[in-house]
Amino acid sequence: MRTAYVNGEFIAEQDAKVSIFDRAFLFADGVYEVTSVLNGKLVDFDNHIKRLKRSMKELDFGPTINEEEFLTFHRKLVELNEIKEGIVYLQVSRGIAERDFTFPDSKTKLTITAFTQKKDLIDNPSVHNGISIITIDDLRWKRCDIKTIQLLYPSMAKTEAMKQGADDAWMIQNGYVMEGSSNNAWIIKGKNIYTREADNLILKGITREAVMKVAEELGYKVTPKQFTVTEAENADEAFITSATTFVTGVVKINGSKISSGKPGIFTKALREAYIKQALKHLK
Ligand code: PMP
Repeated sequence: MRTAYVNGEFIAEQDAKVSIFDRAFLFADGVYEVTSVLNGKLVDFDNHIKRLKRSMKELDFGPTINEEEFLTFHRKLVELNEIKEGIVYLQVSRGIAERDFTFPDSKTKLTITAFTQKKDLIDNPSVHNGISIITIDDLRWKRCDIKTIQLLYPSMAKTEAMKQGADDAWMIQNGYVMEGSSNNAWIIKGKNIYTREADNLILKGITREAVMKVAEELGYKVTPKQFTVTEAENADEAFITSATTFVTGVVKINGSKISSGKPGIFTKALREAYIKQALKHLK
């Protein structure tokens, strides 16, 4: 049985509860982060907290958070739940208020919750086989740079992918690939790597930032530039990045193979290099 974190307390998962008046429950008025755990330690924690603070600021959450306290309860959850490899899910909601569309005044107390999940991140079937994706119209709002818990459309998109026998969906606007349902999308052509520039229409992935650096170190040129579905179909390699998938090869788009239909050589090298540097900076 897991132990969860609710507003300063460590509680058995079945007793971990929040109010029906919580704005996260009523309005999806909350933000979140997923930090991966390797060797029982946190990957890129500082950058996750930095992005969380930014999300909170963009939504005018009011109270600020104490980073040290967040680090402490993350570590404690990992320890209590004996997570060697997996994730910590963290959610911060604006808090409890009478149901009203307008943001309540800044006196609301944030609702801070977290739990862990065990997952094989380094070695799992997607790493070896790659994943297949479908493309889907991007019907999300125009503030995808804020990591909110309003995830219904990505959830619909991924479910649709599963129905079609694929693993995930890439969001498309005007023929251009924006990002995956819960990951950033990339292609490789020759020595060039492309991933969409990070503006208000996609989430600036923490893994995306780290992978950009690693790719440059490996001698590739990374250009933050959008690419079309056709360019992706004709790419040498394609992959996704996220805190839980690291770097994972995409081998099929809408049923048609990318190159050989196996994760590419560079994708594999990039994944290894990413994991190597992540292991060096655990917290
Ligand atoms: N885009 C979206 C829409 C996501 O949900 C995620 C995962 N949170 C990402 C990109 C990747 O971000 P990160 O590398 O920080 O996990």
